[in-house]
Amino acid sequence: VTQKEALVAVSGLTMRFGGLTALDKLDLHINRGEVLGLLGPNGSGKTTFFNVLTGLYKASEGSIVYAGGEVVGQTPQDIYRRGVARTFQRSRLSLPLTVFDNIVIGDYQHMQHGLFFNLFRRKAFRAEYDAYVAKVEALLNIFSPPLVSRMFEPVETFTMIDRRRIEVCRALLSRPKLLLLDEPSAGMTHDETEALMDDILQVRGKLDDLTIVLIEHEMNVIERITDRCIVFNYGKKIAEGTYAEITADPNVQTAYLGE
Ligand code: ADP
Repeated sequence: VTQKEALVAVSGLTMRFGGLTALDKLDLHINRGEVLGLLGPNGSGKTTFFNVLTGLYKASEGSIVYAGGEVVGQTPQDIYRRGVARTFQRSRLSLPLTVFDNIVIGDYQHMQHGLFFNLFRRKAFRAEYDAYVAKVEALLNIFSPPLVSRMFEPVETFTMIDRRRIEVCRALLSRPKLLLLDEPSAGMTHDETEALMDDILQVRGKLDDLTIVLIEHEMNVIERITDRCIVFNYGKKIAEGTYAEITADPNVQTAYLGE
């Protein structure tokens, strides 16, 4: 794969926290339109990679070229506006708020304070509010149609899997080019995970050109939905390839056994 085809090209990426090197001269690429699985033992740097890629942390060294431009040094807001969105390992939903409010909050974190405030004072800013309602409705229609009729119900009334769907919708609100999912199966049963993965594959078919990177420990999830995998250990890439290739790789087996 040439640099041109890659959506993301990472080179020499290093992230240090004091004396600890969480990412160590990492080189990798993410292809346009692929579902890439990010694997590795606990503490191998997977979440740190997401945090650097989304601008939460500034890399100590190295470069991340996304869609032709450098990411390192940009603010999370800039990177979000350029089309990179994520979900977090732990739910960030506000349970008493409605589905609609929770999804729109995603945008708020990246926009002017005033607009969101005004969204809560609906009548005064009817046009903006209506535009958001239309946008959220369209998204739910793509991702999870049964949620449309319940979009003004509080999130606390929803099941775990629906809450996870709502979080994915929140990330998709900006219609990102790159969607980063941090352990989407966490806290869910096997069947719920399968259903969520079906939804994610389905949405990928409908949203043109969406590239997905997911951190995941469930090997059956990785096998089922990824086109390609990259394995980290101690902040370095130790293997890449299809699920079959990486699971057969002795380096990968050693990394997991050595944990
Ligand atoms: P993974 O997601 O693969 O489990 P992480 O990226 O969370 O791994 O962590 C990689 C290493 O970086 C760990 O040793 C972790 O303790 C350390 N680390 C991550 N974030 C911070 C931080 N904000 N400050 C200090 N150390 C951190």
